[in-house]
Amino acid sequence: MSEGSLEAPIRHPIDWKNDQYWDKQDLEAELERVFDICHGCRRCVSLCDSFPTLFDLVDESETMEVDGVDKADYIKVVDQCYLCDLCYLTKCPYVPPHEWNVDYPHLMLRAKAQQFKEQGTSFRNKTLTATDAMNKLMSIPVVNQTGNALLKNKTFRSVFEKGFGVHKDAPVPTYHRKNMAKSTTELPSPALSAKPIGKTTGKVALYATCYGNYNTPDLGADFLKVFRHNEIDISLVPKEHCCGMPKLELGDLESVERSMEKNIPLLAALVDQGFDLVAPIPSCVLMYKQELPLMFPDNEQVAKVRDAFYDPFEYLALRKKGDALKTDFKNELGDISYQVACHQRVQRIGNKTSDILGLVPGTQVHRIERCSGHDGTYAVKKETYDKAVKIARPVVRKVEQQSPQHFTSDCPMANAHVAKLAGDAVASNEHPMTLLCRAYGL
Ligand code: SF4
Ligand code: SF4
Repeated sequence: MSEGSLEAPIRHPIDWKNDQYWDKQDLEAELERVFDICHGCRRCVSLCDSFPTLFDLVDESETMEVDGVDKADYIKVVDQCYLCDLCYLTKCPYVPPHEWNVDYPHLMLRAKAQQFKEQGTSFRNKTLTATDAMNKLMSIPVVNQTGNALLKNKTFRSVFEKGFGVHKDAPVPTYHRKNMAKSTTELPSPALSAKPIGKTTGKVALYATCYGNYNTPDLGADFLKVFRHNEIDISLVPKEHCCGMPKLELGDLESVERSMEKNIPLLAALVDQGFDLVAPIPSCVLMYKQELPLMFPDNEQVAKVRDAFYDPFEYLALRKKGDALKTDFKNELGDISYQVACHQRVQRIGNKTSDILGLVPGTQVHRIERCSGHDGTYAVKKETYDKAVKIARPVVRKVEQQSPQHFTSDCPMANAHVAKLAGDAVASNEHPMTLLCRAYGL
């Protein structure tokens, strides 16, 4: 038996349609098996709170082994995992095809799914993850105005924390009534004939994402300007729903399936028309590239969408390979502290964002490869906000040391979380596409 696998890691399909997936004893036996391997290994202790929670339970048990831990306490370990995938990607030598077959994040997902099926979840968790419904509600003029004002009010936030469970200090984004499609209608739309380069078609549909659509709609214009400047024919996906990532993180797999059924036929039809697909948020890209294909391994449309979905900077890098990326930059960007989002790292595409930003003269990109601890809701919930702040601390310390002109992350939520914690050390924080747009002077 080898210490680590010498072959490239693989991910097995998520077998959630199989009755065994939902068998409680079978899950407990698998948790015990994997926890025992982790207890003997402990490489992941610094990543998140799931591993310290496990190791404390083991160390404080009578036997000081996993068999001494009460199985009812396993869920405490599961609750601290927010499925960032970093343990699988960066630490674990026992991932498949190693015979120990450790896929810690997807085992946590299975435990979350069983818990969700048995007990459901809180009103708070349902509301926070119902992004389509939230955005629709916040688009109503009076609700929008009042909601945004209340979310900025300190007294209300204290009451909201007590009554609803959203931490009073967590950054909560502004909700815009004008979504990404509406805020880009006035942009000039030059007639471009799509030029294929390598496997890219040169014709792109931008999947705005829930957050992009209603919390950072202006980002759409930056995407359109940069892609069109590089003669890529880009437009927005005409109708989209949440990708399902927030529901996946809850373990609500049936809601993920419903999102898949709404989105995939529309996206697959775009692929049939020659479109490639990109999205401004790594978690949503990962959903289409990895999680949905693993949940629906026999669905040909899901596979078709997976093969056409790209991280936006991966897309620009692929165009650059064919000399189709312009470097007529007008503005230097200076020092940029760049937090590499976990859900982008797990796509295994390399350092594409920093490679592209690094092309801009007078620009130094300082990569920070640590988790921000945000995870969509982990940094928002009352009970986990302090842990999210602790997880983000190494990133914040790096930013403070670097004292950059800009802080950036491909994940806008991680961006806002770290920027708030870093305070005065961050002069400005933007999405990397906004920085690139500025470098081009567009
Ligand atoms: S997936 Fe991320 S949050 Fe979950 S256990 Fe691994 S490192 Fe921790
Ligand atoms: S997930 Fe892998 S690397 Fe991390 S503690 Fe467990 S066995 Fe070790």
